[in-house]
Amino acid sequence: MIVLKFGGTSVQDAAATLRVVDIVRGATARQPLVVVSAIARATATLVAVGETAARGEIHEARAEVAALMDRHRAVVTDLKVGPEEALILARIDAFETEILRLLGGVDVLRECTPRTRDHLATFGERMSSHLLCEALRAHGVDAVLLNAFEIVITDSRFGRARPDLGEMRRRTLHTVAPVLASGRVPVLQGYIGATAEGVPTTMGFEASDFTATLVGAMLGAEEVQIWTDVSGMLTADNRVVPEARTLPALSFAEAEELAHLGARVIHPDAVRPASDRGIPVRILNSRAPDSGNTLLSEDESPAGADAVRSVALLRGITSLRVRPAHGTFTHDGFARWVLDVLARNDASLELATLSERSVALALTTATLNPRALAELEEGARLEREDRCALVSVAGAGLENAPDIAPRALAALGGMRIHMIAQGSSPLSLSVVVDEADAERSVRALHRAFLEGGDSRPTHPGEGTE
Ligand code: ADP
Ligand code: MG
Repeated sequence: MIVLKFGGTSVQDAAATLRVVDIVRGATARQPLVVVSAIARATATLVAVGETAARGEIHEARAEVAALMDRHRAVVTDLKVGPEEALILARIDAFETEILRLLGGVDVLRECTPRTRDHLATFGERMSSHLLCEALRAHGVDAVLLNAFEIVITDSRFGRARPDLGEMRRRTLHTVAPVLASGRVPVLQGYIGATAEGVPTTMGFEASDFTATLVGAMLGAEEVQIWTDVSGMLTADNRVVPEARTLPALSFAEAEELAHLGARVIHPDAVRPASDRGIPVRILNSRAPDSGNTLLSEDESPAGADAVRSVALLRGITSLRVRPAHGTFTHDGFARWVLDVLARNDASLELATLSERSVALALTTATLNPRALAELEEGARLEREDRCALVSVAGAGLENAPDIAPRALAALGGMRIHMIAQGSSPLSLSVVVDEADAERSVRALHRAFLEGGDSRPTHPGEGTE
């Protein structure tokens, strides 16, 4: 069997959905299981309406829900599924009623708890999977809608729930395998799950990729395909570097590293289930299936590949320098104390350079809560700068290439560098720069390492140094 995962842009409207139908139809001989995300931006909207309602702005929240439901209704009517249309529209109405009931509760309590936020967030996939399943059936694919609430059993860490692998495997083999064996095409929601008691959960923003590789690993898939809006893992985000090229092959380790460093075409959690079982993962473009793709596998980088395979960018970073407060703290254990405070407060640490006298950190700004800072200020002096970005070059060849750091720094000449680190991972070198310089930095590094020079022909008309 094979797993086909479709991201939000791949199902964002009827035209995109019909391309997905074609792709699934083309794969029927390989026993496909479909995993689908919410239609583009639906999850963000659902989370936002919860916050809007918690602020007491219930009318605004309702209006946003109405617009979201209309987007789904437009997909249904544009799909022209025939006599089934009325039934599907009625199902969307039912979803809308359910969402509005939840928001009514939020309005009364003036609070959107993590549990309620997760519950709201599950509607995106529940609706998109319903639409896709009906679209497949209308075009002759014998699709069967599965229910992630009954298969993806998780703990109750809302927003970042972890699956109970044993229970999930048991249920996957029990429910999904027979559908595959009967020659039908199961359609499963990505990203969402439920506790054993049936409370809806989500596994982290963009975690549909994780659902896909987990299920693929449990069913022993021959391949997991991640269908998105770009032609595989590129040498950089093509929104920043239009010259970025598809990397035909990448090792699991390189892909995982790049995903952590901001190459969001695959979720970092999604690599491990596949690599543990040696199941190849292919990243493809649902708008242009023949335009090139990337195969992730156990294999090392091909001989002659650039040491630097790709440049990654993570925005929304805070650079934090922490030093012991004068006279209030012995330096022993200082670094450990700083890291402990941040870990206890769930701050997401992207990079650190440290000694017992001073600690420099790059943290995801959105995860840095005032409690952590207040605690740190009891024993330390802080210098904080928001609006930074983490820019990295990565590739398995970095370990044995002595000149990466000097070349990177030369390429970044003139830019203010808050931090630089190489070595915590043998696969990457990262710098923290002002967010205003982020895109310029990515382009400079791409030019220095991935356009011309080394083993590659120089692109005419472009500076290579
Ligand atoms: P989906 O909705 O299909 O899950 P995502 O938006 O999560 O898609 O991921 C695809 C996006 O990832 C691309 O549109 C691209 O802008 C971005 N991206 C960032 N870095 C890279 C990279 N190195 N290679 C490919 N895409 C990248
Ligand atoms: Mg994604």
